[in-house]
Amino acid sequence: MSGVPVEESLDYRRLLDAAAAAARATTGQGRVADYIPALAAADPEAFGMAVATVDGELYGVGDWERPFSIQSVSKLFSLALALAHGGDGVWGGVGREPSGNPFNSLVQLETEHGIPRNPFINAGALVVTDRLQSLTGDAAGAVREFLRRESGNPLLDTDPAVAASEAEHGHRNAALAHFIASHGNLQNPVETVLDHYYAHCAIAASCRDLVLAGSFLARYGVRADGTRLMTRSEAKRVNAVLLTCGTYDAAGEFAFRVGLPGKSGVGGGILAILPGRAAVCAWGPRLDQAGNSVAAVAALDALTTLSGCSIF
Ligand code: GLU
Repeated sequence: MSGVPVEESLDYRRLLDAAAAAARATTGQGRVADYIPALAAADPEAFGMAVATVDGELYGVGDWERPFSIQSVSKLFSLALALAHGGDGVWGGVGREPSGNPFNSLVQLETEHGIPRNPFINAGALVVTDRLQSLTGDAAGAVREFLRRESGNPLLDTDPAVAASEAEHGHRNAALAHFIASHGNLQNPVETVLDHYYAHCAIAASCRDLVLAGSFLARYGVRADGTRLMTRSEAKRVNAVLLTCGTYDAAGEFAFRVGLPGKSGVGGGILAILPGRAAVCAWGPRLDQAGNSVAAVAALDALTTLSGCSIF
């Protein structure tokens, strides 16, 4: 034994089976999000996982083709598209440090003058949605079209019932948006920003769709068709912010267990990136205290532990 377990090529079928077994071992742990009432209808025992390699291979296990509410996983795509369309200017209105606070906290905004800590807490995602709206005229449409094109799934869409449920119970997001606007850090009307934010969070997509759409980050900014979405340097930066801020206030624990850049959502999905190799998505609706899927974290932990393949 050399003590260096990294293999040249990974046996993804075997790894996915092992990851699914690790996810099954968490059955019953965690709670399905219900603060957005429409999310409470998710099947708590569902589990799926998919891998899309940089060479175009696709693997899946369990419910990997079943759509779920992507929620904050959409923030990865809104950020990527805002950077792709607007370049570095986006960073003028949002930082890139972990917040150390819950994803929907108002506290820091007050002391930090309406500049959210990072693009993945709700406040930061609202600023990114606002910039993407200015850059494209249709922020939610830009995210939806990108996901459709990359996944090859023309049926991928916003679930209007989830978007309406978010809007109805969105007092905290509305408060964040108004507060940011009061500091002059929104370019569009609060209602427009909230509508587009809810619409991209409420997109329903499967693990299959998300690995295909996220694989540009594994290719250092290059899409499946060979065109470049963003520079290699921008892809590095998105991956860095995913690692430090992508899994709520548990990004340290996620780096410790999984060792990959990743973005989680309260729908129970986590999209993670093995730079140079693959995009991986795991989904299970039951969440831990921090808001990350118990089953998805366990599955990703198993995948990188068994393969010896993480960014570390
Ligand atoms: N749309 C959700 C919210 O604003 C996103 C939550 C999440 O997945 O982190 O509360």
